[in-house]
Amino acid sequence: KLYNQVQDLKGNIRVYCRVRPFLPGQFSSMSAVSHIDDGNITVITPAKYCKEGHKSFTFNKVFGPTATQEEVFSDTQPLIRSVLDGYNVCIFAYGQTGSGKTYTMSGPKELTEEGLGVNYRALNDLFHISEQRKDTFCYEIAVQMIEIYNEQVRDLLANDGGNRRLEIRNSSQKGLNVPDANLIPVVSTSDVIELMNLGQKNRAVSSTAMNDRSSRSHSCLTIHVQAKDLTSGNVLRGCMHLVDLAGSERVDKSEVKGDRLKEAQHINKSLSALGDVISALAQKNTHIPYRNSKLTQLLQDSLGGQAKTLMFVHISPEMDAIGETLSTLKFAERVA
Ligand code: ADP
Ligand code: MG
Repeated sequence: KLYNQVQDLKGNIRVYCRVRPFLPGQFSSMSAVSHIDDGNITVITPAKYCKEGHKSFTFNKVFGPTATQEEVFSDTQPLIRSVLDGYNVCIFAYGQTGSGKTYTMSGPKELTEEGLGVNYRALNDLFHISEQRKDTFCYEIAVQMIEIYNEQVRDLLANDGGNRRLEIRNSSQKGLNVPDANLIPVVSTSDVIELMNLGQKNRAVSSTAMNDRSSRSHSCLTIHVQAKDLTSGNVLRGCMHLVDLAGSERVDKSEVKGDRLKEAQHINKSLSALGDVISALAQKNTHIPYRNSKLTQLLQDSLGGQAKTLMFVHISPEMDAIGETLSTLKFAERVA
């Protein structure tokens, strides 16, 4: 309800900014973020970027370095609940490599209860609410997990490591855009943790050959929810895509060649395609350019229309990341 009220005022697209803390062992040198206040963030900018020496940006919300996973999730919760009412939802983590995207979505490597990310908490919430509503609705929850790397789609939940390339279709009856990717029914958080571990493992298989491929691919966990009204027999379907995007850092074309350059161009293309789609939606354009990347094709029916979108943009606090930080904030400002 609260979300829907807010949504009336602000549309279906929300942008939250999250600033990572300095990491243990890192010298806590001066932070590039000088001020955070509700939806505003001010960063210190060296003269080469901006004469004034500082620049401010406004989003729906800004989470500072001390924000907990729980706090971040509590602002996300209303969106998750709307999936149970048959809405489609997309949640993105955007930012340069090392800025905290995976932390927000999945949690830290050594996972603790407090560390659990949006993915786990979202599913947990879905289980919880479906249990509460079980006298009125029969819910079925199932997940898919895919990776987009160099504009190719791979199944992260395949038992064979997912080496087959998958097709995207936008018209399948059950609302599955990647009908050939495994669709696994889940009934508890432990099911989910097991699947995510499999997904992580499949992601890691390919990363030994090319160091940390995970930062150069998009991973998308899709939760499909089907709700059958026990009185009328009507069936509602909603789905939620939780997307850990490839690192947004620009690479210097003069320094990389071959595969690395190709990867960089694919990432660049798909992140700008995503930015173009969201900003076209925010401006209520009639033409929305979904066809320009695999990512936007995949998410076509969950971006725009009645669907709800939340973008988490991640910022590293280090002064020497300021160039990337500014480009991240500008990207975010364009879609907000
Ligand atoms: P990305 O996925 O954007 O490359 P990670 O999520 O892997 O970045 O974060 C980089 C490092 O910073 C990891 O060691 C992670 O645990 C840590 N980290 C990120 N965000 C936070 C946070 N909010 N609080 C504590 N540690 C964080
Ligand atoms: Mg990551």
